[in-house]
Amino acid sequence: MSDQEFTRALGYANAAFDLLKRSGIPPYPQFYELLYTYATGVNPSLNTRLNSIFRGGEKPSSELAETLFNEFLKSDMTERMSSVSERMHARIEAVHDAIDTAMSTASSYSGSLQSATGDLEGDLSDEDMKALAARLLSETRRMQKTNLELEKRLEASRDDISLLQRDLDDVRRESMLDPLTKIANRKSFDEGLADALVEARDTNTPVSLIMADIDHFKTFNDTYGHQTGDQVLRLVAMTLKSNIKGKDLAARYGGEEFVAVLPYTDLHGAVIVAENVRKAIQAKELLKRSTNEKLGRITASFGVASFNPNDNAVSLIERADRCLYAAKHAGRNRVVSESELVDIVEAPKDASAA
Ligand code: GH3
Ligand code: MG
Ligand code: MG
Repeated sequence: MSDQEFTRALGYANAAFDLLKRSGIPPYPQFYELLYTYATGVNPSLNTRLNSIFRGGEKPSSELAETLFNEFLKSDMTERMSSVSERMHARIEAVHDAIDTAMSTASSYSGSLQSATGDLEGDLSDEDMKALAARLLSETRRMQKTNLELEKRLEASRDDISLLQRDLDDVRRESMLDPLTKIANRKSFDEGLADALVEARDTNTPVSLIMADIDHFKTFNDTYGHQTGDQVLRLVAMTLKSNIKGKDLAARYGGEEFVAVLPYTDLHGAVIVAENVRKAIQAKELLKRSTNEKLGRITASFGVASFNPNDNAVSLIERADRCLYAAKHAGRNRVVSESELVDIVEAPKDASAA
C-alpha cells in the first residue's frame, strides 16, 4: 500500500467515524462499513439515499442504518455461504456418527468372534455349542442391522451432499459475477487475466486487454438519476458481452468501467473488437421504458494494449489504462491503442555532455 493510498483510506475511516459519532449510531462493524462506503462514494445509490436523509435533517437511527446495510451492502452470498457450510457440517457430523456406531459394533462383533474362537478350542457339550451358535447368530444379526443402517445413512448423505455440491457451485458462480450487470466481477477478471497471461506465455500466443469507461457518466446520472444510470450500466455490459466470443472475458472493472480480456487476439484484432463495441454503444438510442422519455445516447472511450514478454498483469492494465486516458483526452468516444501512445520520456540530464 502506498502512502497516498494509506492517507486516503485513513481519510475515509475518519469521515466514517465522524458520521457515526454525529448521528449517534453505534460503531458496530456493519454500520462502520456503511458509512465508510458512503465516505468513499463508490456506491452512488447508497450516497443518494443517505444524502437525502442528511439533507432532511434526519439522524439515521440504528434501525435505519441496519435497513440500509441490508439493502446496499449485505450480500445474501454471505448468508447462503454460511447456510451451505452449516449444512455441510451437519452432514459430515452425521456421517461421522454413523461411522462411529458402525465401528463400535464391528469391534464388539470382532470381540465376540474372538471369544467364540477361544470357546471352540475347549471341549464343548452340545448345549454349549448351541448356545455359542445362538450367540454368534444374534451378534451377526446385530452387525447386519448396523451395516444396513450405515448403508442407509450413507445413501441419504450422498444425496444430500450432491445437493449441497450444486448449491455450493451456484454460490461460487455467483460470487464471480457483478450483482448489477451479471457479467464477471473484478475478482473473476483478476483471475481470468492471470490465467490468460500464463496461457499466452505457455503457448506463445497473443492476448489483449480492452479497458472501457463510459463518457460523462456523472452528468448522465445527475440528469436522469442513478437507477436509470444502473440500467445503462447493464446495457453497456450486455453490449460488451455480445461483441466478444469464445474464450474472451468481459467484466465490470468498477463503477462505470469495463474490461475485456481477449486471448489469442493481437493488438490489431482487439482494436477491431473495441471499435465494434464503441459503435454498438453509440448506436443505441436510450429510452426510459416507464415513461418513454428519450434519454439520448451515451458513448464510451476505450484503451487497448497487448501482452508482451516484459509484461505482468499490472503493467498490462496500466498501459491499457494510459490508452484509455489518452482516448478521453483526445475527445472521448474513441479507441486508442498502445501503438498510438507516444512515450514521453525525460531526456537524460547529461545527454549533451556525453
Ligand atoms: P469521463 O468521461 O471523464 O469518464 O467522465 P465521467 O463523468 O464518466 O467520470 P467520473 O469518474 O467523474 O464519474 C463516474 C460516475 O460514474 C460517477 C458515478 O455517478 C457513476 N457511477 C459509478 N458507479 C455507478 C453505479 O454503480 N451506478 C450508477 N448509476 N452510476 C455509477
Ligand atoms: Mg471512470
Ligand atoms: Mg466515465
